[in-house]
Amino acid sequence: MGELIYRSTRGRSESVTSAKAIVEGIAPDGGLYVPDHIPAPLVSLEEMLQLSYRDLAYAVMKPYLPDFTEEELRGCLQYAYNSRFDTPEQVVLSEQGPVSFLELYHGPTLAFKDMALSVLPRLMTTAAAKTGIEQEIVILTATSGDTGKAAMEGFADVPGVRIIVFFPKDGVSPMQKRQMVTQRGDNTHVIAVDGNFDDAQRSVKEIFTDPEEKERMLRAGYVFSSANSINIGRLLPQIVYYFRGYTEAVRHGRIRLGDPVTFSVPTGNFGDILAGHYAKKMGLPVDRLLCASNRNNVLTDFFRTGRYDSNREFYVTSSPSMDILVSSNLERLIYEIAGENGSRVEQYMMSLKKTGVYTLAEGTGQLQNEFDALYADEAQTQETIRYFFREYGYMIDPHTAVAASCALRDSGVQSHRIILSTASPYKFPRTILESLGAEVPEDSWEQVKMLSAISGTKIPEPVAELKDLPVRHSRVCAVDGARDAVHETLGI
Ligand SMILES: *Cc1c(COP(=O)(O)O)cnc(C)c1O
Repeated sequence: MGELIYRSTRGRSESVTSAKAIVEGIAPDGGLYVPDHIPAPLVSLEEMLQLSYRDLAYAVMKPYLPDFTEEELRGCLQYAYNSRFDTPEQVVLSEQGPVSFLELYHGPTLAFKDMALSVLPRLMTTAAAKTGIEQEIVILTATSGDTGKAAMEGFADVPGVRIIVFFPKDGVSPMQKRQMVTQRGDNTHVIAVDGNFDDAQRSVKEIFTDPEEKERMLRAGYVFSSANSINIGRLLPQIVYYFRGYTEAVRHGRIRLGDPVTFSVPTGNFGDILAGHYAKKMGLPVDRLLCASNRNNVLTDFFRTGRYDSNREFYVTSSPSMDILVSSNLERLIYEIAGENGSRVEQYMMSLKKTGVYTLAEGTGQLQNEFDALYADEAQTQETIRYFFREYGYMIDPHTAVAASCALRDSGVQSHRIILSTASPYKFPRTILESLGAEVPEDSWEQVKMLSAISGTKIPEPVAELKDLPVRHSRVCAVDGARDAVHETLGI
């Protein structure tokens, strides 16, 4: 096979190098970039047992980035996985009763987004230099809560980059909101949208794919890129921790090398679980990938019926990062299912845009071969938080609880279950306290202190410092006002 390159899922754009795919974020035809084949890691599973997280990341990611030199990629990883993580090996596998939790929230913003968004800025500036881009890069991002913060932390004060983040005004937790509006960095801009996440995401995508907009930016000396999980540079670092979860389960004696495991993944935009799918295709022994949703269960229905129907009530839940009805990254899986037929994918996506619905002509066989799909409502989520705390003294956040609830109910699974733990419970103190039946104080700082007292765990530094940080961002825009807000921010 030739050197790995990236194709658009809609088949009408040219193939590009990994550097170009990372800088562009989204293909000119509106599709997402996908590798033209899935490579093998540089080392065997057995050898992976001995590697540091950084070296593992190198072994898994390098084959996807053939145009990066070893020094460049190692440099990006060195910069990303540093002491801003509160654990020396970045992720932790924690065994609790019959299941394991893969804690991915030890980074600077306490959400798993840090695993990728601490790498992406350096990948992107390296890629920009390689592709001869001289303009300032403008990162436009819509966030359901955690992406925006993690992206801004990653990009803050990185030279040659500006970042503008849109978040749904009432669709994130108070702690998430506070994290966002206090963001440091002269190159960071935060704007609240008077709408939900899908509104914010749609506006951003439209600005991105509008050729006139691109032209206008270029004249002013800017190019757009994306830090959303549509960017392949976001996805690649996420493949790494599936391998890590596996080798940790081997090291803990939970499984033997070669045994299959099941991953339960709290899913929103389908980026995290898609990385698991890539890990499996790279040779990781994966039994089932469990797509866990909250009450916004469009994916649960899709995996059962092959019909994607986003025309339904939108619920604001206690797991806001999963309050999504249009999961962008699903397009990459659909591309495979459609036999890499770009025009077929385009038909589905046009139908989704026009009518809110598409139905797979290919049926559900391929989907169901690999994925299970379940959802947890609010009561089940709270019950699961309570269960793990009462039984094991272990505290999980509402997103993780959705995945744990689904994993406990996925009765057919025989293999060891690893639940991806995507956020620190300290980001969602109210929900945790309510679930445990505590009298919840109004003030969120008091909630945090109570959580610490009840669980006997230390308040993580990124939460502790929020109390004293000044508010730096207070802008709000209307649902259709994102474009103007971008122009205003950049002064163009
Ligand atoms: C983003 C996020 C998710 C969903 O991940 P996707 O890649 O969008 O499916 C789940 N949990 C938390 C805490 C998140 O921040």
